[in-house]
Amino acid sequence: MPIYEYRCLKCENNFSLLQSLYPAENNAECPKCSSKDVKKVFSAFSFGAGSGNSVSPAPTTGFSGG
Ligand SMILES: [Zn+2]
Repeated sequence: MPIYEYRCLKCENNFSLLQSLYPAENNAECPKCSSKDVKKVFSAFSFGAGSGNSVSPAPTTGFSGG
């Protein structure tokens, strides 16, 4: 079951909800202020493809002045 992240536009509270694959309608509400004025956001970690450690290559070229 996918987890959708929402953000409350009222109190700016981020929360995640478990929804079915085919949500009938956007009936999510903020658990903090129970406001229906929420917006669905996409979490970045949801797009992670497998477990890969990508380390940024450190620049080996040293500036020795000149
Ligand atoms: Zn709220």
